[in-house]
Amino acid sequence: MNSWEQRERARQILAKEVGYVTKPHGDRLRVALAFPNTYWVGMSNLGFQTVYRLFNAEPDIVCERFFLPPKQELAALSAAKAPLLTLESQTPVGDFDIVAFSVSFEWDYVNVLTLLTLAGIPAYASERSGRHPLIVIGGAVTFVNPEPLAPFADVIAAGEGEALIPGLRRAMAEATGRPDLLMRLASERGFYVPSFYEPEYAGDGTLAGYSVRAGIEAPLPVRKAALKTTEAVDPPATTIFTPDTEFGSRFLVEVVRGCANLCRFCWAGYNYLPVRAFPADRILDLAREARPYASRAGLVSIALCDHPEIERILSGLIDMGYSISPASLRLDDLTESIVGMLHQSGERSITIAPETGSDRLRRVINKTVTNAEILEKADLIFRSGMENLKLYFMIGLPTETEDDLQAIRDLTGELRDIMLTHAKGRGRIGRIVASVNPLIPKPGTAYQWLPMEDPAITDRKGKRLRSLVADLDNVYFNIKSERHSYYQALLSLGDRRVAPAIEAAERNGGNWRAAVAETGVDADFYIFRARTHDAVLPWDIIDGGMKAAFFPSEYDKGLREEWTLPPKRQQENAKLLPMIG
Ligand code: SF4
Repeated sequence: MNSWEQRERARQILAKEVGYVTKPHGDRLRVALAFPNTYWVGMSNLGFQTVYRLFNAEPDIVCERFFLPPKQELAALSAAKAPLLTLESQTPVGDFDIVAFSVSFEWDYVNVLTLLTLAGIPAYASERSGRHPLIVIGGAVTFVNPEPLAPFADVIAAGEGEALIPGLRRAMAEATGRPDLLMRLASERGFYVPSFYEPEYAGDGTLAGYSVRAGIEAPLPVRKAALKTTEAVDPPATTIFTPDTEFGSRFLVEVVRGCANLCRFCWAGYNYLPVRAFPADRILDLAREARPYASRAGLVSIALCDHPEIERILSGLIDMGYSISPASLRLDDLTESIVGMLHQSGERSITIAPETGSDRLRRVINKTVTNAEILEKADLIFRSGMENLKLYFMIGLPTETEDDLQAIRDLTGELRDIMLTHAKGRGRIGRIVASVNPLIPKPGTAYQWLPMEDPAITDRKGKRLRSLVADLDNVYFNIKSERHSYYQALLSLGDRRVAPAIEAAERNGGNWRAAVAETGVDADFYIFRARTHDAVLPWDIIDGGMKAAFFPSEYDKGLREEWTLPPKRQQENAKLLPMIG
């Protein structure tokens, strides 16, 4: 694929889009923004779209996009050794001042390296100089554990885009050269310059700590940058519409950021605190502007109903003629009127996450609902006319026993009975689809010290669960094996020494087994090693804002089967759990 063909392809893509931005480059700061997966995936990513909008909202910045080309194009591009071009002005990526990656999934790490190679930019920061663009890596995964990607980044942007862009812009405007730029960035909140820090390892290979290199002034740890309040901020929302993406007909909008429930396994819950609602009027204004291009509103929030004006937002969207797709809804927030409005907007299915089948194990993980409440809400869901239910469960949780698997079966069976009772009246039976995932202990959670469960045990549990639910008609279980998650866990829990395996996997077409063997990375060491609560963890380099004692105390409370209740539920739940008093 030569440059002419690439240009033609870019023009075809732009011809189908509404809302992209073009600006003359002139003396503007030029940012090439990458989503390290295909256009189809990236254009439905709200974080990516938001960073694009935020950069281009600055008059002195021009931001253009590029994506991982589809397989055939990628092979043709590599063969032709043609430079990778941005979409908007079809300029070589390597000519930009900044190349910024928005990384949302561990699986996309190899694609970061593919894109750098296609752009003719050396993958390792140590092999680059001031004549190369500044490589900035940001996005959700990097503020959980940036270390496996650290050797590839000049700077890691840790935190929320809205809080990071002003610092980047300031440093770029004032810097006199690359070393000065990195020093300036390191002094801005949320910017982590990996080459300024030296990891130290103990004799047994465990991480002993980090130090700042001699002669460098940089904070240790680096504090994540986050918005204090979202009251005056536009919500992240789709600004470029295209039919060629996963959620092509949807206007995606973030309604509220964060979740106060504090489930002990949930990195999203802990890492997006505090809970911050976006202004309802702006959500509705943007929805109105987007209506000619979208018929469905996708509400992207982990705790949608924590927005104090959620009912006004839903009814406003319905009045505009939108059908509404919420992300997973938190059970305790489902009310008759909210479920009714979702049904009225055309929704026939609701997704909820009981996580497990027993109240006991739900107390261990701090999922603060009971089976009785789940059944009550299911009755409300099916009574309102919804036909289908999607469920999320996890296995491999601390203290889990055979009884807890049986409890998943029993709860699902009871939910099915409720579905059938309501289906009789309608003469149409819906279905229940349950996804079961093994726990991957995540950085920045109360389970960050835990090893992953032995895959043989998880597989056995999966098989047992499959046999337990085999006789449930109209119920479909999708049970993932732990093997599927093994290398994802390596990228999630690893340190800088994992980077060569990422590079090898990129080179060999994604064969992780071979990549790990070739580079001598001991994956089991990262995945199956139990860590003590005083162990140094790779992600300690970033201060996410939680007090050091909080996670150990949450973990211990879990073992005592105690909830830490979100404030608004403390009184209400006291009656269910005498130990909380
Ligand atoms: S309720 Fe959901 S989003 Fe909130 S902390 Fe628990 S798992 Fe995370």
